[in-house]
Amino acid sequence: MTWALVGLLGLMLGSFFNVCIHRLPRGQSIITPPSHCPRCRRRIRPWDNIPVLSWFLLRGRCRDCGKPIPVRYPAVELLTGLLFVACWARFGPGWEALRAMLFVGLLVVLALVDLEHTILPFRLSLPGLAAGLGTAFLPGTIGIADALWGAAAGAAFVLASWALWRFLLAPVFRRFGVDQREGMGGGDLPFAALIGAFLGSAATLVALAASVASGVVVGLILRHAGRSGKGQHIPFGPFLAIGALVGLFFGSAIAAWYLGYLRG
Ligand SMILES: [Zn+2]
Repeated sequence: MTWALVGLLGLMLGSFFNVCIHRLPRGQSIITPPSHCPRCRRRIRPWDNIPVLSWFLLRGRCRDCGKPIPVRYPAVELLTGLLFVACWARFGPGWEALRAMLFVGLLVVLALVDLEHTILPFRLSLPGLAAGLGTAFLPGTIGIADALWGAAAGAAFVLASWALWRFLLAPVFRRFGVDQREGMGGGDLPFAALIGAFLGSAATLVALAASVASGVVVGLILRHAGRSGKGQHIPFGPFLAIGALVGLFFGSAIAAWYLGYLRG
């Protein structure tokens, strides 16, 4: 029963996250007006706003004007539902599970905004960072000290990558006549700190390593498929989010395994 409720909550919040993903980068309010079709402005009827199901019943089109509804909408709802159930399975019941759900919600919204608009809005990442630190005071969570260490590790990683790029890699690329835009933007800094605040130090290191690995793999695939042209900007936020999920669900296991490996 609890599982069904957690999944349902995820589906419904996923629907709200779709509104956030659409409106946040446009500077619009996420509260008002109620959900409407961006083309014909008609309000979405409650029975057409059922997560995942409505998209299939409407065959992915607005009931009024027939404008296609991107597959992102049911995908985000389904993904959020699955991630919520995974959080409950891994951490629940308790504060740590609720904290993990808040975290995956922030990851979903920020990653998709970055994917679509190549920005990570401060008006979401900064309150998210504050929430990551603030909720670390709750009983049974990682604690504020570890949250601060994690946030510092995330911020240091972005600063170090930026310096590495600016002073070492970019001049080398320029020398060989390769025009590559910068890999990380200013929005990655608070986002990485947010991830660190939620995960704590050990899982953050796992998350950062996993985000670099996933970025390299996807970058190579895109290059091989001819999808990434010279100087094209691939946002790093989605990879940070993928790494963060690895850190959240497998961070402590991977860190324990690695430390055991180091000790022989
Ligand atoms: Zn419409």
